[in-house]
Amino acid sequence: MNIYKFLELGKKYNDCPNCGNNFIGNGEGKLIVENDTFYRSCKCGFEVTVKENE
Ligand SMILES: [Zn+2]
Repeated sequence: MNIYKFLELGKKYNDCPNCGNNFIGNGEGKLIVENDTFYRSCKCGFEVTVKENE
Protein backbone atom coordinates (compact mmCIF):
# COMPACT_ATOMS: atom_id res chain seq x y z
CA MET A 1 0.00 0.00 0.00
CA ASN A 2 1.11 3.51 -0.82
CA ILE A 3 2.53 5.15 2.32
CA TYR A 4 0.49 8.31 1.84
CA LYS A 5 -2.70 6.35 1.46
CA PHE A 6 -1.80 4.35 4.54
CA LEU A 7 -1.16 7.49 6.58
CA GLU A 8 -4.42 9.01 5.42
CA LEU A 9 -6.39 5.90 6.36
CA GLY A 10 -4.44 5.45 9.59
CA LYS A 11 -5.36 8.97 10.63
CA LYS A 12 -8.96 8.59 9.59
CA TYR A 13 -9.44 5.32 11.43
CA ASN A 14 -7.03 5.70 14.34
CA ASP A 15 -10.01 6.32 16.59
CA CYS A 16 -12.94 4.04 15.97
CA PRO A 17 -15.68 6.15 14.31
CA ASN A 18 -18.26 4.21 16.26
CA CYS A 19 -17.00 4.29 19.85
CA GLY A 20 -13.79 6.34 19.82
CA ASN A 21 -11.57 3.48 20.95
CA ASN A 22 -8.03 3.87 19.62
CA PHE A 23 -6.45 0.67 20.90
CA ILE A 24 -5.17 -2.16 18.73
CA GLY A 25 -4.52 -5.64 20.03
CA ASN A 26 -5.45 -7.48 23.24
CA GLY A 27 -8.94 -7.93 21.88
CA GLU A 28 -9.47 -4.18 21.51
CA GLY A 29 -9.19 -3.98 17.77
CA LYS A 30 -7.25 -4.96 14.71
CA LEU A 31 -5.29 -3.16 12.08
CA ILE A 32 -4.17 -5.18 9.11
CA VAL A 33 -2.43 -3.75 6.09
CA GLU A 34 -1.77 -5.89 3.07
CA ASN A 35 -0.58 -5.04 -0.41
CA ASP A 36 -3.67 -3.16 -1.45
CA THR A 37 -5.99 -3.51 1.48
CA PHE A 38 -6.39 -1.62 4.74
CA TYR A 39 -8.48 -3.32 7.41
CA ARG A 40 -9.46 -1.88 10.76
CA SER A 41 -11.81 -3.42 13.27
CA CYS A 42 -12.87 -2.65 16.80
CA LYS A 43 -14.26 -4.57 19.74
CA CYS A 44 -17.53 -2.66 19.43
CA GLY A 45 -18.23 -4.39 16.14
CA PHE A 46 -17.04 -1.67 13.80
CA GLU A 47 -14.98 -2.84 10.88
CA VAL A 48 -13.87 -1.34 7.63
CA THR A 49 -11.95 -2.63 4.65
CA VAL A 50 -10.54 -0.17 2.14
CA LYS A 51 -9.01 -1.20 -1.14
CA GLU A 52 -6.20 1.08 -2.18
CA ASN A 53 -7.55 1.63 -5.66
CA GLU A 54 -11.06 2.59 -4.69
ZN1 LIG B 1 -15.36 0.87 18.31
